[in-house]
Amino acid sequence: MLAEFRLLSIQEFMTNQIIKISRSGVEKYLECQRCFVLAYKHKVRPPSIPFTLNSAVDNLCKNEFDYYREKQEPHPLFIEHGIDAVPFKHPDIDIWRQNFKGIRYQDTTIGYDFGGAVDDVWMKPNGELIISDVKSTSKKEFDWNQTAKMPYGQGYKRQLEMYQWLFRKNGFKVANEAYLVYFNGLKNEPMFNQTMKFENHMVRLECNDSWVEEKLIEAVRLLQSEDFPGASHTCENCNYLRKRWSVSQKID
Ligand code: SF4
Repeated sequence: MLAEFRLLSIQEFMTNQIIKISRSGVEKYLECQRCFVLAYKHKVRPPSIPFTLNSAVDNLCKNEFDYYREKQEPHPLFIEHGIDAVPFKHPDIDIWRQNFKGIRYQDTTIGYDFGGAVDDVWMKPNGELIISDVKSTSKKEFDWNQTAKMPYGQGYKRQLEMYQWLFRKNGFKVANEAYLVYFNGLKNEPMFNQTMKFENHMVRLECNDSWVEEKLIEAVRLLQSEDFPGASHTCENCNYLRKRWSVSQKID
């Protein structure tokens, strides 16, 4: 007997497939649902430029952590800041740190495959994992308390919390404490000599990942629906596009 075929509506199609979503996708959902739907459902994203200097700092830091991971010794920064841990040695560490792979968790009932690429993971003597992320900036005076009040500073904490949730879902014991390994490039040195100096700030954060699952599911449900949320009236980008559109309507 011939099977009966029926075309699925967009909504049924989105409900039936596993939606691959990254931690930056959930962050985008929290910032602006319209931009999130545009990016994930319609593949419309604002142009972006690569942050190659920041990536270079990340990579240099990764090399250092790998050196101490191999020896299973604490990085000198751990000793300086009283962090009782060593870089975590695990066969999947390179996958967890790789963009577009990362550590992942799949829920086939709700229909998502969620993941994020972590910068580094350390292990305490009691077996708990500490999640860390490397950040670089260049400020005259580094003040985390100021940065923490900014939306992007709050996003850094959520980033760590999403990684913590992912590691817990993968069966690891995870400490609530997490670290931003911050490097501040010194821009007022008298001579450059093709060498940039950095000061280090270890920012310890007490994290709480209890919000992650709820927001992740909300984001997935939005993609599974046919909703197209409105734009924010305070967003500079949308206001720019709106004004641009109204001017072009008068001229064209
Ligand atoms: S308000 Fe507009 S430009 Fe701004 S984040 Fe949302 S959709 Fe994107």
